Amino acid sequence: MLLDVRELKKWFEVKKGLFGRKQYVKAVDGVSFQLDKGEAISIVGESGSGKTTLGKTILRLYEPTDGRIYFEGRDITRLKRNDLRWYRKETSLIQQDPFGAFASHFSIYRILKEPLIVNKVTKEEEERRERIYNVLRDVKLDPEEFAFKYPHMLSGGQLQRIAIARALILKPKLVIADEPVSMLDASVRVDILTLMRELQKKHEISFMYITHDIATTRYFSDRIAIMYAGHMVEMASTTSLLKEPLHPYTKALLNAIPDPDPENRRRYRDVPPGEPPSLIDPPKGCRFHPRCPYAKDICREKEPPSIDVNGHMVKCWLYG
Ligand code: SF4
Repeated sequence: MLLDVRELKKWFEVKKGLFGRKQYVKAVDGVSFQLDKGEAISIVGESGSGKTTLGKTILRLYEPTDGRIYFEGRDITRLKRNDLRWYRKETSLIQQDPFGAFASHFSIYRILKEPLIVNKVTKEEEERRERIYNVLRDVKLDPEEFAFKYPHMLSGGQLQRIAIARALILKPKLVIADEPVSMLDASVRVDILTLMRELQKKHEISFMYITHDIATTRYFSDRIAIMYAGHMVEMASTTSLLKEPLHPYTKALLNAIPDPDPENRRRYRDVPPGEPPSLIDPPKGCRFHPRCPYAKDICREKEPPSIDVNGHMVKCWLYG
């Protein structure tokens, strides 16, 4: 196992409430899961579900509020900045916006050389060049043509390939990609996801793909985890979750996928659309209960436990 996340919480203090009480946005509120070496998982949820905060907390870009993060068995939850240097080399992040991701006055070669210099990978320019050219070939950009271009000369799809190359140049064991295709034209999204999957398998990297679009997960992951209002509410293999979802919220997400076949459209018609709740004062019990057509008394009172149903981890009283 590469990553072991246990009851992780990340709360943001927002303001003092009445009588001087502190208030918190409970963006991630007790999330547990494991990721194997070379495994790809998609983390899916609406905006405000906590998926991006989960990724950044795992990378220790945010300080965890509570819980534990183990990486190759080592507890990295409370490591100080200096002790995190090795972890920064083993992990990397691909961000959503490829257009604002690079310094415009640096060539692609310089952009890819920077992490090698900062992390003192090698002082030999020949070795650096070889590594940069190899990673450009990996992302299917001809080094002779692209190495000395500048970011403004590239399309969105090509820039995202550079972002992937930069994420891979230090040969990390864990990559977290946060909505990596949401700002790209629909025509290149599948190409980029297919490329990431190819590289993930080729280099046996563990990958977390964070997205609001459950439809794209089929191109990428071995497993899918669904987040709602700071909780992980369902997790299963990609095939099983897309074919036989259990949690009512997962069914609501699948309803939103446009499908040309009227038979497949809104397969789960009884789950209404709606908005996620406030994370400062989330609903008592199951956080999905205000939107859930199956809500019963216990759902409004008590938070459901996470249980195993036919290989799905599901957090719902329908199965408890
Ligand atoms: Fe619906 Fe209750 Fe399940 Fe929550 S626990 S999803 S309210 S049935």
